Amino acid sequence: TDFRSLGLADPLLDALQRAGYTVPTPIQAQAIPPILAGRDVQGIAQTGTGKTAAFALPILHRLLANPKVANPHTCRALILSPTRELASQICDAVRIYARRTKLHVATMYGGVPKPPQSKHAAAGIDILVATPGRLLDHMSGGTISLDETEILVLDEADHMLNLGFFEDVEDIVSQVPHMRQTLLFSATMPPEIDALARRMLHNPLHLAA
Ligand code: AMP
Repeated sequence: TDFRSLGLADPLLDALQRAGYTVPTPIQAQAIPPILAGRDVQGIAQTGTGKTAAFALPILHRLLANPKVANPHTCRALILSPTRELASQICDAVRIYARRTKLHVATMYGGVPKPPQSKHAAAGIDILVATPGRLLDHMSGGTISLDETEILVLDEADHMLNLGFFEDVEDIVSQVPHMRQTLLFSATMPPEIDALARRMLHNPLHLAA
């Protein structure tokens, strides 16, 4: 298989070609078609398997397929990540995949000033990559609302649990509309994560890379 046969839009195929990706990794081949079709996915995948592109590419495709201007202080897709480093890496990768589009990709994580992050949010964000604590900060400060979020990704869910973000994640997810697509990725699937997935995902497809 190649990326074209998975059904991705031309601007994304262009970006992949420029990035030198020719063959989808196993998790990409498994995850991209069902995510494009709108299904929830619960995936066991380690870093290094290409899981970022496995969820980012179909999300970008779906946002492009339903073109809408993100309203001020909202985000159309939210990727929750456990650490600042991971959030920053994911954001860099998503920007590479989105380089042929006009989609607005932004991050919110701690340890850096808030005002630039608020400014991005004020413009309306297509894809927001955030860590739980700083995101909640912005939510309570009124700079970002999840009222219009259509797609939610919980990345490295086990890592978020181990860092003590469980309640924060629950709080955040409770503020995303029920009519959404939810994707959960984790390197391991302990019972706590499985229980979380059962509450937050709707009829998910289970995948393992
Ligand atoms: P990830 O598991 O998402 O952290 O990705 C691991 C690395 O593989 C990253 O450096 C990606 O840029 C790269 N990568 C992801 N998918 C592909 C692909 N289909 N072909 C070549 N490299 C890829």
